[in-house]
Amino acid sequence: ITILGIESSCDDTAAAIVRDGPEGRQILANVVEGQTSLHAAFGGVVPEIAARAHAERVDGCVSKAMAEAGLGFGDLDAVAVTAGPGLIGGVMAGVMCGKGISAATGLPLIGVNHLAGHALTPRLTDGLAFPYIMLLVSGGHCQYLRVDGADQFTRLGGSIDDAPGEAFDKVAKLLGLAQPGGPAVEAEARKGDAKRFPLPRPLMDRPGCDMSFSGLKTALLRARDKVIAEKGGLTLADRADLCAGFQAAVTDVFAEKTRRALALAPVGALAVAGGVAANLAIRAELETVCAVSGVRFLAPPLALCTDNAAMIAWAGIERFRSGARDDLTLSARPRWPLDQSSPALLGSGK
Ligand code: ATP
Ligand code: FE
Repeated sequence: ITILGIESSCDDTAAAIVRDGPEGRQILANVVEGQTSLHAAFGGVVPEIAARAHAERVDGCVSKAMAEAGLGFGDLDAVAVTAGPGLIGGVMAGVMCGKGISAATGLPLIGVNHLAGHALTPRLTDGLAFPYIMLLVSGGHCQYLRVDGADQFTRLGGSIDDAPGEAFDKVAKLLGLAQPGGPAVEAEARKGDAKRFPLPRPLMDRPGCDMSFSGLKTALLRARDKVIAEKGGLTLADRADLCAGFQAAVTDVFAEKTRRALALAPVGALAVAGGVAANLAIRAELETVCAVSGVRFLAPPLALCTDNAAMIAWAGIERFRSGARDDLTLSARPRWPLDQSSPALLGSGK
């Protein structure tokens, strides 16, 4: 089966072609065009600018992917497109492109949930079997999912406020570091003393795997202001110590909540996805937690952990196999939870 995937739900326009055949799973093309420079002046993704850029670029990305793979539409079995959740203008641009291709070529159309794309990625990269737990940690998302099938997801818990990537970005801003904040804060943290500023580990006393990161960010702001009030400014060492303290707090939260997720859903493997999964300190800690529990730990290559269309094409292959087909009535959805959170599961863990 060979499927073209299209992704345009945030600030990356992407098209990819994935094949699952006798030679195994192959990514034949994987084109991603970011929009960072378009939004840089605004301090965040501007939905209207993103939507226009997607509309202008998505067909070009598709042509590029087809050329890279050396395929024509006649070589494909279907076209899969992110139908949500995300910034609606961008999602619509991708959905319209998918519909256009489907209408013109007669290829079946398959709408894919962006989060399902992330959650199914370790099956593309490692052939991981169900069930497993997926920890999705990015600038926009933070949740533990139990994955039992290509269409069977149970949300075990997640952030009740900021996503961790967002927290890393805000901390970088508070300390005058470059955006995106994650890599900058991680680099500083490596030089710092994590014990100097003991920051809170929010929601540790609450059962289940819900998390909170906005209070942590406020605590960091207070610690920063206290140093500034005492010394009139921040030294490089102060800044490194603040970063180290923050990263240690986030890492501790993920370690504890991951133990709880594994207790709630005792499965054989845990995988991560999202930009924050690039953080080596967090990654190492999760690996240790999994090793202690005798659980396999998987972290797909970063290019497939962040937004991309190969994951959409792969999710499309999984849906195609299960017989799912959409048609030209497919609509773009700004919100599309994979699953309503399961109260029975949430209450029972520690
Ligand atoms: P989504 O894909 O959920 O819509 P997004 O586009 O923000 O959101 P990604 O591209 O997956 O998500 O991740 C970007 C986020 O990851 C940014 O907030 C960035 O700061 C964070 N990040 C990247 N590298 C690191 C790192 N080494 N440590 C911590 N955070 C990081
Ligand atoms: Fe994403």
